[in-house]
Amino acid sequence: MTLFAKILAGEIPADFVYQDELAVAFRDISPQAPFHALVIPRKPLTSVAAAEQEDAGLLGHLLRVAAKIAADAGLDERGYRVVTNVGEDGGQTVEHLHLHVLGGRAMSWPPG
Ligand code: AMP
Repeated sequence: MTLFAKILAGEIPADFVYQDELAVAFRDISPQAPFHALVIPRKPLTSVAAAEQEDAGLLGHLLRVAAKIAADAGLDERGYRVVTNVGEDGGQTVEHLHLHVLGGRAMSWPPG
């Protein structure tokens, strides 16, 4: 069971900012920006690489949730970043698909 599956099951506490029947979002425990939350599907997909065509609607929903929580956090005017890490080179540490939503400061490019 992954860490995020335990959060979904209520076995580990999280600071939720959004919940619906398909997805939840909660604040990252180690924020890399003034606002840093993770959007995850309830479905236990390992990463975006594991998503099938049948998950296309779910993936779109996750992006919509990311935009909603960013707007709710007041990030619309200045902008923000949505990123998902995949695998070792992508820097993924938790094997449950998650979108990072980061904002409240200017982001650099390219990422490290
Ligand atoms: P990644 O490295 O892309 O797999 O992202 C995993 C993220 O999960 C990191 O940004 C961690 O800080 C975050 N994280 C780890 N444990 C927790 C936790 N218990 N609650 C919230 N976020 C966590």
